[in-house]
Amino acid sequence: MTDQDAATGDERRAQLAGSLARVRARIAAACAAAGRDRSEVTMIGVTKTYPASDVSLLAGLGVTDVGENRDQEAAGKAAEVAAAGVDVRWHFVGQLQRNKCRSVVGYADVVHSVDSVRLATALAEAARRHRDRPLDVLVQVSIDGDPARGGAVAGSVDIDRGLDLVAAEVARHQPLRLAGLMAVAPLGWEPERAFGRLADIVAGFRVDHPTATALSAGMSGDLEAAIAHGATHVRIGSALLGKRPTLR
Ligand SMILES: *Cc1c(COP(=O)(O)O)cnc(C)c1O
Repeated sequence: MTDQDAATGDERRAQLAGSLARVRARIAAACAAAGRDRSEVTMIGVTKTYPASDVSLLAGLGVTDVGENRDQEAAGKAAEVAAAGVDVRWHFVGQLQRNKCRSVVGYADVVHSVDSVRLATALAEAARRHRDRPLDVLVQVSIDGDPARGGAVAGSVDIDRGLDLVAAEVARHQPLRLAGLMAVAPLGWEPERAFGRLADIVAGFRVDHPTATALSAGMSGDLEAAIAHGATHVRIGSALLGKRPTLR
C-alpha cells in the first residue's frame, strides 16, 4: 500500500464513521420513540456498488452484518473480504434467480428475498448439496399485493406465490431455517401506510409461524417508520456509504 492509499483509506474510514454515527443515532431515536429496546434492531450495511475495502472498514467500525443484492458482485466481494481475514455475516437481499442459488449458498448467511415456491425448492436443493450448515431464510412479502413487483402475496392461494405456501416450502426443507419476513415499501406509498400494512401481514403470519420473528424492513429513507412498525433488521445503503452512481 502506498502512502496515498493509506491516506485515502483513513479519509474513507472517517467518512464511514461519521455516517455510521448518524445512522446509529437515527435507529436509537426510532427505537426510543417506539418504546423498543435498541438491541431488538440489527443494522445491515448494504454495500452494493461499493468495494470490499469498504466492507472491511465497516467491519472495523463494528458493522458485521453486510447486505448485497446481486450474486455476481457479492460472490467476488465476499471472497475478497474473507481473503483479507475479515469475518462478516452476508445477507443476500436482492432478487434471486434460481440458477444463482448454488453460488449464493456458498457465502450467504441469510437470504432475505425468497418469494416463490420454486425458488424455495431450488435454494433448499442447493443448500443440501453445497453447504454444511443451515441457511436462514426470510420470505419476501409484497405489501401492495402486486406479485409483478416481487414478493409473495399474503392471503393468496397461488401455488407458486401465495405467502403461506412459500413459507411452508421453506419450513419443510431441513437445510433452510424459516427466520421471518422481508419487505420493501412500494414506490409512491407513504412509509407509515406501507409498514402499517406490513405489520398486519406479520401479525397473521406469526400465528402460523411463531418462531419466525425476524422482520427485515426499512432502508435509508424510511427506517424510522419501519422500526415503529416492528422491524428487527434495517437495510441501510446510501445513508451509510453515500449516494450510489446509478439507481439500483
Ligand atoms: C439497495 C437496497 C437497500 C438499501 O437502500 P438505501 O436506500 O440505499 O438504503 C435495501 N434493500 C434492498 C433490497 C436494496 O436493494
